Amino acid sequence: MIDTASLPVVDVHCHPFLNVGEVTPEQFVDLAAFPGGGVSYMAQAGLPLDEALVREIQHIRRNTVYMRFLIRQMARFFECAPVLEEVVAARNRAVTNDYKGYVRHLFAAGNLIALVADFGYPQPPVSVAAFQEDMPVPVVPIYRIEPLIVELLKADIGWEEFRRRYDETIAAALEQEGYRGLKSIIAYRTGLDISPLSRTSDQGWQALDAVRRGTGGGAMKKLRDHLLCRALELCIEYNVPMQIHTGVGDYEVDVNNCRPTLLMDLLRFPTFRACTVILVHAGYPYCAEAGYMANVLPRVYCDVSEGIPFAGSGARRIYAETLEMAPFSKVVYGSDGLALPELNYIAALLAKQALAVTLNDLVAHNMLSLEEAQEAARLILADTARRLYRLEG
Ligand SMILES: [Zn+2]
Repeated sequence: MIDTASLPVVDVHCHPFLNVGEVTPEQFVDLAAFPGGGVSYMAQAGLPLDEALVREIQHIRRNTVYMRFLIRQMARFFECAPVLEEVVAARNRAVTNDYKGYVRHLFAAGNLIALVADFGYPQPPVSVAAFQEDMPVPVVPIYRIEPLIVELLKADIGWEEFRRRYDETIAAALEQEGYRGLKSIIAYRTGLDISPLSRTSDQGWQALDAVRRGTGGGAMKKLRDHLLCRALELCIEYNVPMQIHTGVGDYEVDVNNCRPTLLMDLLRFPTFRACTVILVHAGYPYCAEAGYMANVLPRVYCDVSEGIPFAGSGARRIYAETLEMAPFSKVVYGSDGLALPELNYIAALLAKQALAVTLNDLVAHNMLSLEEAQEAARLILADTARRLYRLEG
């Protein structure tokens, strides 16, 4: 049988958070559940919420397989009854007593050794130093391009200046501020069907001009497509990976334009084949598509975050489907954890459990030897991410 429990884990996609202190059971569920449908998320998005709806949402969000798994596993960690109220009481005591010590225990239990974190969410951003201060493992920051685009659109500047500041800010992030890669959530904005020909500077100039004048349908898409192409070029120049959100996500994602294969035209274009690209969330629920892309495009990788842990029982299928076509050296582990350190821990636990089931099944069917399956587990949980982000050890 494969042993994944003792293997080290690099979390290749998560978000920074600060200590939220003591929480009520309702707040805990809201923070730990998939963010898209939560009360705080909806309030932030300005959606109408009355008291009855809040109570209803709080109630139904306890009823996912994922949430029940989380409560059961956290109860094991605290050696208490698998009841939400008891788990929350135990975690509140631990957090109040010694937050950093509590995080250290959680990470040691999951054997988490590094976090690659997208500091573009939440907004306003958490500082890299503040997050690192609380974490017992190295944090590798990555830079999201969309907040920069928002900032530049607010400035009263023409294309030359826009483009110069875009390049310079990204270059400074990578050269001086310690960021080790870029990230885009263009799937949340204008979708993944991006023409590689958007890379011409003429398209950027024309699109910004149309956005400024409020003319021309689709000008914003043209501008975003151009800027994504430019970000890929900068990733090639600085030899760092680009993370692109694929698949479903929070409330605002463009669900019709988030399938990973929509990126095929862009990523098979000669210029961009040179870029190391991580398909974040392996396009969940279109994981087989993401696996196919990792097969045919030499520098494309799949990260299984979001589906693991939030799809709960789907974790095994996510690994099984991704590994149908993706080389096992091109699948990486991530949690999409945010807000609470418990998420990074639970996701690592679920991933190890699901990966063991998937790999044992392949061994049982004589598709991999035990040694090959062990090697795949090591690569998926840590070693490939170590190589991509140049982590020592
Ligand atoms: Zn994320």
